Amino acid sequence: MGESSKKLEGKVAIITGGASGIGEATARHFINHAARAVVIADVQDEKGQELAESIGLDRCVYMHCDVSNEDHIKTLIETTVKTYGQLDVMFCNAGIINKSEQTILDFDLCQYEKLFSVNVRGTAASVKHAARAMVEGKVKGSIICTASVAASMGYPQYTDYTMSKHAMLGLMRSASKQLGGYGIRVNSVSPGLVATPLACGMAGMEAEELERTIQSSYYLNGVLKVKHVADAVVFLASDESDFITGHDLVVDGGYKVINSSS
Ligand code: NAD
Repeated sequence: MGESSKKLEGKVAIITGGASGIGEATARHFINHAARAVVIADVQDEKGQELAESIGLDRCVYMHCDVSNEDHIKTLIETTVKTYGQLDVMFCNAGIINKSEQTILDFDLCQYEKLFSVNVRGTAASVKHAARAMVEGKVKGSIICTASVAASMGYPQYTDYTMSKHAMLGLMRSASKQLGGYGIRVNSVSPGLVATPLACGMAGMEAEELERTIQSSYYLNGVLKVKHVADAVVFLASDESDFITGHDLVVDGGYKVINSSS
């Protein structure tokens, strides 16, 4: 591995929602960029454990953590700091989408509450406890939240999901103001549609079919892949972005630009 690949050398990272999709790709990418340790936190125990084993248990471990449960998050962060001495990077990425359309006329408030308990409450609690650990350990860490192009656009359906992603920007911007004085950076990454289990489940399509369907949405040739998002997260996690905070990095091949201007 060349010097330029070692963007995260020595860093200890947690990835919530790390067992699948964007989180899984980012876990592998963090290790490829020489992270000292990556803790995958998820509710899919078998998948998470298999992923950690395939990466190598010397540098990657799996921990069960339901982000809607604040005690789980506290334990996750305390265990990480106890095991590795510090927390440098917190990637708050766990998220869900409701399969029903959730248009405002048919809005199911129970489904909305469940979604908010993961996407909003879970991310806020993750940022809170990661920030506390960084302040306490005097670590100039990086916190990254997964928002979405849905954080800054309206949609014909998925109202609760869209609301939850708008909330990510409010959380990220407020936390970045409050934590800047400690040297802690808080940013978000906003992917366009990328064919993960979440997106395929929402669209009711296999990955290949979904990619064919969305291919014409990008300005650039090709299709958005999880690797593109993971590259952006590595940048925000690394010292290459050490004077960037409060920023939402959109990774969408131009999708938002096209649709915002139509
Ligand atoms: P994914 O379903 O592949 O991954 C999401 C992971 O979060 C899963 O492993 C799941 O088990 C985990 N998770 C769900 N509930 C959890 C909980 N309560 N506690 C801990 N982990 C939990 O989907 P993905 O597309 O990789 O999603 C990752 C993030 O990216 C989400 O926040 C999603 O909203 C966001 N996002 C996805 C897309 C897309 O098109 N795929 C676009 C924009 C943003």
